[in-house]
Amino acid sequence: MSLKRFSKYTTYVPGEKLIVRLDPSTFAISDCERELELGNLMGWVENVSSHKMEYGSAIHNAAAEFVSTKCTVMQAVQVAMEYFRDCGCDPGKDWRNAGHLLMTTNGYLTKYINDPFQPATLELTDDEGKKFKHIAVELPFEIPFRSYPHVDIILCGVIDSYGTMDGVKCFKDIKSTASWDIPKFFEKYRTSIQLMIYAWAMRHLGWVDYYPPALIDGIFLRDNVNKTAKFERSGFIDFEDSQVDDTMDWVRDRCDRIATLLEEDAPFLKNPTRCEKLFGKCKFMNICWEHNETLRDVHMRRLKQVIYDPKTFGTPNNQK
Ligand code: SF4
Repeated sequence: MSLKRFSKYTTYVPGEKLIVRLDPSTFAISDCERELELGNLMGWVENVSSHKMEYGSAIHNAAAEFVSTKCTVMQAVQVAMEYFRDCGCDPGKDWRNAGHLLMTTNGYLTKYINDPFQPATLELTDDEGKKFKHIAVELPFEIPFRSYPHVDIILCGVIDSYGTMDGVKCFKDIKSTASWDIPKFFEKYRTSIQLMIYAWAMRHLGWVDYYPPALIDGIFLRDNVNKTAKFERSGFIDFEDSQVDDTMDWVRDRCDRIATLLEEDAPFLKNPTRCEKLFGKCKFMNICWEHNETLRDVHMRRLKQVIYDPKTFGTPNNQK
């Protein structure tokens, strides 16, 4: 059978199986098959990244620098500022601008300057088989997950931090939000697919022999540069074995569906209930619903194709 039909997908190498990398956000956020095809499989992203997304990424980068290099708060804040400046996004009149980012990053890192959460030191192996020590922040993983005649699915992601708090091995995720209902915000993570996949991955990789609990570092943003955000850490979010196992069965089922669509060259269905997102409309709105080809082409010029990889996604050197 010819595999030529896969040629529109970024990870396709002619004559070989199609490699599909799916991260937990694929399952957690998008249940629109068409969005998954356009975004994850075809790799279409906006030419200019969203400043709201980059705002959160800048804080993540600063936090990772702070923990892994033991630099000062100001040095880590500088990392966030440089990242935000270089990302090429434009906040316009939105309050999530560089000044606001500086205040938030400084506040967050200062709060955890004597953090009771201690990141682990992992012994990892590089591509040449050499062992090296790595402070457990920004930990990427890639796990071969499902294999089909013409398609392989790799489950991948990046765990913000893995370590110990109050003697309990756990992992930590940083989330920024404009929500101010703190208990409600934390509560929704008790059923988070993303966190359960992380817990499963850590056990699968042999870092722990049980599904570890999660902690959420919540950054509750305020829409005013003169008012400081609130920083609260959740309690341990525990997952029952059966909860994780059932979730992973569901993830396997989703993978089977994706592979079936690919192998049968069947259409990925649109889901109109998912077009409105937390931060506005889906980025494929104009392409999905525009029937005039010329206009669709105009909208396509706002997008570029990059190869999906959790470690390099969005960087210029992996553009197709
Ligand atoms: S615009 Fe709607 S239907 Fe189209 S990909 Fe986005 S969420 Fe799916």
